[in-house]
Amino acid sequence: MKNIVADLVVYGKIFTSEDNKIVEAFAVKDGKYVYVGDKSGAESFIEEGKTEVIDYTGKGLVMPGCGNGHAHYSIGIGIPKFGTRMDREITPEKFLAEIIPAAVKKARETGATSIFGFGWKFLIFENNMPTRQQLDAICSDIPMYIADEEGHKALVNTLALVNAGIMTADGTVLKKEVRGGEIAFGSDGTPTGFLKEQAGTYTRSFLDNDNLFSVDLAKETLQDIQKLLLSEGYTMYLDGWGNYFYNESYFKAANQMDKAGDLHFVLGLTYELESWMDIDKNLEKSLEVQKYASERVKTNWVKLFMDGTVETGTGFIEPLYRDGHQGIANWEEDEVTYITRKSNAKGLSMHIHTMGNKAVNRVVNAFVNGGKDEMRNTLVHVYGVMPSDYKRMADRNIYVTEGMIWHHNSDDVRAYLMERLPGDMGEEGYPMKSYFDNGVNVTSHSDFPALTGSPDDPFGIIEIAITGQCYMENGKP
Ligand SMILES: [Zn+2]
Repeated sequence: MKNIVADLVVYGKIFTSEDNKIVEAFAVKDGKYVYVGDKSGAESFIEEGKTEVIDYTGKGLVMPGCGNGHAHYSIGIGIPKFGTRMDREITPEKFLAEIIPAAVKKARETGATSIFGFGWKFLIFENNMPTRQQLDAICSDIPMYIADEEGHKALVNTLALVNAGIMTADGTVLKKEVRGGEIAFGSDGTPTGFLKEQAGTYTRSFLDNDNLFSVDLAKETLQDIQKLLLSEGYTMYLDGWGNYFYNESYFKAANQMDKAGDLHFVLGLTYELESWMDIDKNLEKSLEVQKYASERVKTNWVKLFMDGTVETGTGFIEPLYRDGHQGIANWEEDEVTYITRKSNAKGLSMHIHTMGNKAVNRVVNAFVNGGKDEMRNTLVHVYGVMPSDYKRMADRNIYVTEGMIWHHNSDDVRAYLMERLPGDMGEEGYPMKSYFDNGVNVTSHSDFPALTGSPDDPFGIIEIAITGQCYMENGKP
């Protein structure tokens, strides 16, 4: 019998992840391992001219690559190129006195048509939220959009609200609500410039996004992302919002880079629909971007936001928050069922941001009623799960990608959560062990650049998952 001829044979000190074994060689044929073991055993898989042989002997450890199940490198690496990324510990005072003036200066120097920023922390700003008037005093002739560190809230100047048709320049209110979001109003009855959830995404969609994030800039961003990922040990990541800038720049750039042989990791791209959009029209668009799929570019995910975040009071939970309020639910269950059914039928999987246990329950219902099990529809982040949902998730092959990185808190944040969240919810979040116990498939993600400055590499995240502490802060495990 003739031996299999491998496409690739690798020698070295190889960690297999199976029973903590170290081996000397492995062989790959058609993308599958055909041999793992000692060096002499691998030799019979080699045929001159057909097999690529790479020898890492004496050059360190060879190990399987890690995947990041959900992250926003496109935003985190891309935004500083045209906007401002700030430290999440900055105060509202420093924000107004230093950060925004510098952002405006940068925009004027580069001829930018929007001022874009990212990274302030809601818990620090909450009781002293800067207003649109304060932002106008720094810049009123270029629309300004400054997202918080989670990307779920934003501060905008008046022009951004005028361009979005929410108000006129003289203060007449044109729109009081955006579905799935909240426009904050001041005592004078006009918007304060503080936007929550989908009120933010809606306003942002009116920025000059093609100018902000062009195909060329997307390519430059991808090169930098690639350097970062490969240095951290990732060989794939799923971008949680491939059309963040409401265009196809990131899809196009990835496709062109892969075809040119310049993409050396696997990139998953999601197409996000907002609850204020026309569903059918945007499902069509999610199908159109399939033309950008290539060997290393996977485009087959539809992304939704079901709710906000539990930690900041916009997650959709049961029972209610201690002050009696409820979070924000962006979609009705029958809409999610409809989108899941349509997407799965066309070969697209669902990737849904769900934080609160009630949001998770609603989406599990939709996946059970509208989804195909083999599509591995996925719940993303998942702060909490109702006990009765674990088994349904396991039975219907519903996946979770979980923020293991969030298994820590500083003592003050922890006290804050205990005070505001019902029952034990302030202490109990991101229930990794329960997934394992119930047989739910789960992957890890960093959600980069959320929690600006947190470890992003697999080992830093594993450390947090195990110790329940993060080196940057003082907090009990
Ligand atoms: Zn995300």
